Amino acid sequence: MIDFAAGAPVPGRLDVRWQHGDAGEQAIQIHAYDPHTYVLRQSKLTSYEAPFIYLLFGNDRAILFDTGATADPVAFPLRATVDELIESWLAANPRERYQLVVAHTHGHGDHVAGDGQFAGRPDTVVVPREAEAVLDFFGFSDWPAEVVGYDLGGRVLEVTGIPGHHPASIAVYDPWTGFLLTGDTVYPGRLYVFDYTAFSASLERLAEFAAARPVTHVMGCHIEMSRTPGRDYPVGTRHQPDEPPPQMTVAQLIAVRDAARLAAASPGVHVFDDFIIYHGPCRAAMAGQLARAQWNRLTGRDRCVPVRR
Ligand SMILES: [Zn+2]
Repeated sequence: MIDFAAGAPVPGRLDVRWQHGDAGEQAIQIHAYDPHTYVLRQSKLTSYEAPFIYLLFGNDRAILFDTGATADPVAFPLRATVDELIESWLAANPRERYQLVVAHTHGHGDHVAGDGQFAGRPDTVVVPREAEAVLDFFGFSDWPAEVVGYDLGGRVLEVTGIPGHHPASIAVYDPWTGFLLTGDTVYPGRLYVFDYTAFSASLERLAEFAAARPVTHVMGCHIEMSRTPGRDYPVGTRHQPDEPPPQMTVAQLIAVRDAARLAAASPGVHVFDDFIIYHGPCRAAMAGQLARAQWNRLTGRDRCVPVRR
């Protein structure tokens, strides 16, 4: 049995060049943070969303957070990838029975599209995307403020509710790595807020939650910023050679909390160095995003969009 408590959080590797839409790259990039923790990234060649996906192993079960933006198991072989990773983990760490839980940071389409690939898999639970099912699965009795434990077998995750981007958004603290998974609520990109009251309250609680734990990395699910402060790649971009890494610090998370306070009174787009808050529908700004993306395609700045012949 692996001791997931001693010495945690243990250091891992994040010195990785994430694939960001170069020709010929894999549909799914696999990165081992440590032997029990995998960070996957869907290629921008299969979806411009290029979400990050997390696979955490415990003594009794593994949990997969999110299933990507593409359903098709040929274009996006998530099930085959996860099966292989579990198989090799079990070869190194034999177990008589081993469960897989497929859960989500939140229920938006680019995080649940591959759920169907896990239908019928033995010893597997797929948690539905709806808030009611998520609360039920993790055992919340006081959503969203409660912090509930979820035990992978000696690796006990702490889960709390952070609605605002989506009604079923959760944050997950993993004591083994010190990762704080924040889904689409905090990441280096456009933070779309659909329920600002809930978002504000979530950020206040999340900042306190993070400050009270030895968080090593705040891990979201996308990258949309460039390395130029305040400059994002527009919606739909398929090639991001100048993107920053996905991991953020607790100081940056607190900056998001402070920004959420500043932006609370005024719906619209609020640009900060490392992220952008979209308070409300922001229709004009979204139209501008699409125009920028179209311009980048026409001028060849976004080179990886398939050329129509
Ligand atoms: Zn997303």
